[in-house]
Amino acid sequence: MKNIAFVLLASILFNVSNAQTLNSFYADVVAKTSESTILNDLKAFENFGIKNVGSEALTDCENWITARYQSLGYVDVVIQPFTYKAGTSNNIIVTKTGTKYPNTFIVIDAHYDTINGPGTNDNGTGTVLIMELAKLLKDIDTEYSIKFIHFSGEEDGLIGSKYYVKNTVTPEKLDIKLVFNIDEVGGVKGKTNDIIVCERDESNPKSNNADSDKATKRLATCMALYSNLKTEIASAYASDYMPFEDNGLIITGLFEKHESPVNHTAKDDLAHMDVNYVYEVTKGALGAALEFAGAFKK
Ligand SMILES: [Zn+2]
Repeated sequence: MKNIAFVLLASILFNVSNAQTLNSFYADVVAKTSESTILNDLKAFENFGIKNVGSEALTDCENWITARYQSLGYVDVVIQPFTYKAGTSNNIIVTKTGTKYPNTFIVIDAHYDTINGPGTNDNGTGTVLIMELAKLLKDIDTEYSIKFIHFSGEEDGLIGSKYYVKNTVTPEKLDIKLVFNIDEVGGVKGKTNDIIVCERDESNPKSNNADSDKATKRLATCMALYSNLKTEIASAYASDYMPFEDNGLIITGLFEKHESPVNHTAKDDLAHMDVNYVYEVTKGALGAALEFAGAFKK
């Protein structure tokens, strides 16, 4: 009896704290996610080759990303150059203005530079996922503004995101409600890729950890509502959300459950990953982006 009572109480508590339910408007938007677009974009990303900073391949990829936003009709596309020992590279920052809180931002980011190989998983997947979100969010009203950011220099030590935080976020006192980072969500060919890891801040400073935990639980709920994936929560580390985290901001992120054994090698390509997994992750991420940005039907 004691056990049953405990289970009942736990289930009541669970329901109270997870009141978030499926939003049918969000589900309709998520249903437009295109697996064939994701596949074609991953192929295009792969075909640019090894995109390390200083390479022509990276510049070609950057131009491809920028052209995509322009063709989608985004007008606020900013190229932010930064220079370090590997050369000069650019962050791509695209802003969609919110209806109610135009000066408060949800940052959705992924790096597009790669190391040693084409990086189709790390991080073609995050790159392509964000472009799919930007396509489907383009004509949808959101209360908060969204910044879609494609960082460069990540593989050399989070250079682009550190530069952005130091030279834009801090001096301009940007009001960032949440940073949602996507890095390496391609899964592993031949494995059952049915779990997505939702990452929360467990590091110093601690002041922002509770809010990251809340946001990450909200993310996990959305992943479960809008995709067929199961979720796990783990610690955030070693990607472009960390410079934001270091500055006290609230972060969350997505990472694959089965970690690619070929990342940072010439074999990080389509043949070693699972495109259907990327499609499912994109659906869940889109549901979360709609939720985080306060999207509503006109
Ligand atoms: Zn990466």
